[in-house]
Amino acid sequence: MQIWNPWHGCQKISAGCKNCYVYRRDEAVGRDASQVRKTNDHDLPLKKNRFGGYKLTPEGGTVFTCMTSDFFLDGADQWRGSCFEMMKQRPDLDFYIITKRIDRFLSCIPDDWGEGYENVTICSTCENQDRADYRLPILLSLPIRNREIICEPLLEEIHIEKYLETGLISHVTCGGESGDNARVCDFRWVKELRRQCVRAGVPFYFKQTGALFLKDGRLYHIERKLQQAQARKSHYSYTPNSHSADLIRYTLPDRRALFVRLSRSKFRSGFGLDEDDIRYIREKGLDTVRHHAEDFVRERLGDENPKNDGRQTPMRGHPVFKAMHATACCCRSCLEKWHAIPSGKQLTADEQAYITDVIMEWIEKHLPSE
Ligand code: SF4
Repeated sequence: MQIWNPWHGCQKISAGCKNCYVYRRDEAVGRDASQVRKTNDHDLPLKKNRFGGYKLTPEGGTVFTCMTSDFFLDGADQWRGSCFEMMKQRPDLDFYIITKRIDRFLSCIPDDWGEGYENVTICSTCENQDRADYRLPILLSLPIRNREIICEPLLEEIHIEKYLETGLISHVTCGGESGDNARVCDFRWVKELRRQCVRAGVPFYFKQTGALFLKDGRLYHIERKLQQAQARKSHYSYTPNSHSADLIRYTLPDRRALFVRLSRSKFRSGFGLDEDDIRYIREKGLDTVRHHAEDFVRERLGDENPKNDGRQTPMRGHPVFKAMHATACCCRSCLEKWHAIPSGKQLTADEQAYITDVIMEWIEKHLPSE
């Protein structure tokens, strides 16, 4: 990982900045992080080593740019032009810029920016729904070749489906907050964000848990050095078509408890079998209906990322469809929320059998005795 900090220092601008690590580190050495100054490394991309080669090389990987400030900070307006010049002079390097000031982008780019430099990725952060809804429409409207989103520190459940569905976002990263005063990161928020990425086919990187991690109702204090490893161990990062989700460990719900929960849902408990359904089941027999359920589960839910997920199960037309909605087996999102089966994985034969069993249990419970 190569880092280029052309200036240092920043001003806090939104909720995500509250415990900014730049401030924390500067305070530890008695420095005022709100004072912005040009660094000695301002021209790092052009600096040479003692053998005459560049210090920053393509082999060194992406150049993370301005990591102790914000590249679009107004206090750095006089220094930014030369940075764009250096990015142009080093087309062999990929520059990665993370910003909370995407709304300043247009006033900061050089005249020859065009549709964007090929070697520059712009990543907008959104730590909560409010900032997502403010920054992401701007990010999508700008001339940028490579757009990414980073939700870190993730402060609440956020919904960014409509931005992902544009196909203009190439990657999403998320993580918790570190430091002594870290705010909680709830694993449910991470899973929800991942689910949205899976559905939109956007790669998702669960980078780190943060220092306070809430999982299954239990709060964990996680040491800094373990935060990335713990996130990695969860296997909740997602790369389309990689089968990475096969490694996620999860526990299917207790069947009895599941049916109690379903009965408490106004929407789920509103489904029932009508006379046509009952007649159909009696004519075909439960074994045949089970075969239909097996087919529907395999065809509509089985793929890693089924087409039209969320809309693949009609509300009527077959008693199994009703049972799928009533038992939250209608789409992969519902399977994740109600049955803990992670999105983004090909369903195994065992998982398909479990889903079919749940559907058939509901049908049998709702079939009046003859
Ligand atoms: S924008 Fe980034 S660097 Fe600046 S204060 Fe906020 S978190 Fe810190």
